[in-house]
Amino acid sequence: MPVAKKDYYEVLGVGRQASADEVKQAFRRLAMKHHPDRHATTNKKEAEEKFKEISEAYEVLSDAQKRSAYDQYGHSGVEGAFRHGNFSWEDFTHFEDLSDLFGGLDDVLSSFGLGGMFGAGGRSRSRPGQGAAGEDLGAALEVDLPQVLTGTEIPLAYKRREVCAACSGTGSRDPKGRVTCPECQGHGQVRMSSGFFTMATTCRRCRGQGEIIKEACPACRGQGRTVEDRKLTVRVPAGVDSGVRLKLSGEGEAGLKGAPRGDLYVEIRVRPHPLFERHGDDLYCELPISMVQASLGCELSAPTLDGTVTMKIPPGTQPGSLFRLRGKGLPSLRGGGRGDQMVRVEVEIPARLTAQGKKLLEEFSRISEDHLFPGIEKFWRQVKGWMKP
Ligand SMILES: [Zn+2]
Ligand SMILES: [Zn+2]
Repeated sequence: MPVAKKDYYEVLGVGRQASADEVKQAFRRLAMKHHPDRHATTNKKEAEEKFKEISEAYEVLSDAQKRSAYDQYGHSGVEGAFRHGNFSWEDFTHFEDLSDLFGGLDDVLSSFGLGGMFGAGGRSRSRPGQGAAGEDLGAALEVDLPQVLTGTEIPLAYKRREVCAACSGTGSRDPKGRVTCPECQGHGQVRMSSGFFTMATTCRRCRGQGEIIKEACPACRGQGRTVEDRKLTVRVPAGVDSGVRLKLSGEGEAGLKGAPRGDLYVEIRVRPHPLFERHGDDLYCELPISMVQASLGCELSAPTLDGTVTMKIPPGTQPGSLFRLRGKGLPSLRGGGRGDQMVRVEVEIPARLTAQGKKLLEEFSRISEDHLFPGIEKFWRQVKGWMKP
């Protein structure tokens, strides 16, 4: 059971009627308090968790549309706004609101180990001229046992970021619209005096890039990438099992400035089957037969993933007996033949008897001898042995 999520208003300590400005002030106040660099190493982790929590709340409550969805439907109303259904740092768009508190955007990002995480909009810590690689993406697919037997191809539709066609990924309305950063004169760093010290810190304005965009590209709002629909066919190999992750190289998010794309990882889940239970490469199934078939022996057809096969049941077969159908299991993902199918025989007693059937069974009972039922005989022998003083 996932832990119930806290109310965003409670997290930020504001009322439901709080204005946008009150929300922002509350967030900044809490961000100062919980910044991990202000905490001893021992509770740094805790501070980071807290920081993430308030950032998530702020991300939702600072956006009129998300806030209204949250007010109406609670947490489930905003899940779709997060790239992975859950809030992650990739979803946070307000690092700028903190940069003046913590001495620069890059410093904020790096204190959370987030440097280089953002490919778009100059959020990466990459040096000028160097693009950030595209991020990996994840998806999930369900398959049935017959598909595990043969392997299959499944169409998959998802969204991924592509280099913006309008600006070729520069993020600038005009391709030549980059100007030297006026803040740092193109150095990417600015000098700051603090008491006795003079420190060089990453320029806030250009995030160390040395130049800034004059006017943001309207198609990608300066991010350099836009979210696009992608459709492809996933080849699922025979023998896959739940939890297997298929790697589709280069099918993740686009990189910037010619940097490589991320990969797509597809996690497989095998749906339960009504007849067959999987144990590794072997399959197990139950086969009910009648008391008479078990006693006299018989030939009957048993289901397998390839269709039915004829099975011989020897006379005197006991309930729970296991029979092996060699090579009727699943192929191994690593190759090398198929597993087996194990058939567990369940013996059924007649639920009702006709008058004639009853007569015949009474007749059978009269002529039965103890040694015909070795299990019963053994049981009573043990009981007698134990009762004796
Ligand atoms: Zn663009
Ligand atoms: Zn600068």
